[in-house]
Amino acid sequence: MVNIALIGCTGSIGRQACEIVRRYPERFRFSALVCGKDKRALSALCAEFRPDFAALASGEEIPGLSQGTRQLKGEEILSRVFEGCGVAMIAAGGFAGLSYTLRAVEEGKRIALANKESLVCGGELVMRAAEEKGIDLVPVDSEHSAIFQALSFRRDTPFKRLVLTASGGPFRNFTEKELANVTAADALKHPTWNMGAKITVDSATLLNKGYEVIEAKWLYHTEFDKIQAVVHPESIVHSLVYFEDGAAIAQMGYPDMKLPIQLALTYPQRLPCCRQLDLEKIGTLRFERLQEEKFPCYALALAAGRSGGTAPTVLNGAAEEAVRAFLRGGISFPAIAETIGEVLSRIPREEAESLEVLQRADDLARKTAAEIIYVK
Ligand code: MG
Repeated sequence: MVNIALIGCTGSIGRQACEIVRRYPERFRFSALVCGKDKRALSALCAEFRPDFAALASGEEIPGLSQGTRQLKGEEILSRVFEGCGVAMIAAGGFAGLSYTLRAVEEGKRIALANKESLVCGGELVMRAAEEKGIDLVPVDSEHSAIFQALSFRRDTPFKRLVLTASGGPFRNFTEKELANVTAADALKHPTWNMGAKITVDSATLLNKGYEVIEAKWLYHTEFDKIQAVVHPESIVHSLVYFEDGAAIAQMGYPDMKLPIQLALTYPQRLPCCRQLDLEKIGTLRFERLQEEKFPCYALALAAGRSGGTAPTVLNGAAEEAVRAFLRGGISFPAIAETIGEVLSRIPREEAESLEVLQRADDLARKTAAEIIYVK
């Protein structure tokens, strides 16, 4: 029986993780369930799964908890939430996920990582601590899971190049003029994947693909020059690894996050999870150049990733604010990239020495972004 501490249990990844535990109750149970503020959903999950610990980041009381579940509050959340767990699944969204990841790494827990910001913002800190502790950091992101599978579940398998696939988002064929007028509702219609709102917008701007390049760099100890992103509108090939001898190994499947979530819990073992591919029905698979010039968020993310230090944290803080403003109709789609670029140019880069340094950079980036958005 594997005990899972699930951070972010009511989001898109969290809900699918619950489905897996429901399907395999003899293998998995939750030792802890944590979410941001949806107390009714958390209460229902606690009644169903009876975890040892539950917590609401907002600090409110969780209604109707049974005696077997203890609610953690304040500083106790971070200090006790991983008690007794075999796997820490970090599925909280945004920068907030980083402190959970770092804590779980410090406690030497095996980590199933769905929170991108942990590596985008905290890659240096997280990987250094993970190496010191010798812990297993398993990707839940579909592209990085595909690479992990192509590398035979070994992050030290030698390779020549990593190729991340991108659906291209809903605006793949839009002109720059058309992009200026798209709305939040348009951006939320993702052609192939069903995900949370922030990441769906990040997929439309291709910021998400830039994040994934940074994630891949950290996870697979490589350089930016050895990572490429290519547009693949069908989202069947989830990523590829090129090897020295000319071989390329890809992982394929219908777009369904349950596979990478489940595999992060069971690998190298595979259990029934998703439906099999019907190749004759799929017919054609296309691959196209990623048009960086049309999607400046991608280049901004890569530049911040190459710069390192606090730059990716500043980028992310600005992006979280800008996307929030876009979703409520406050700024245009192109203004997301403009805001991020402006914030990055105003805030000087520092070394990412500690979580506190990153938290300050995040805070400053959000305030600066809010000022710029207010003027727009
Ligand atoms: Mg992905």
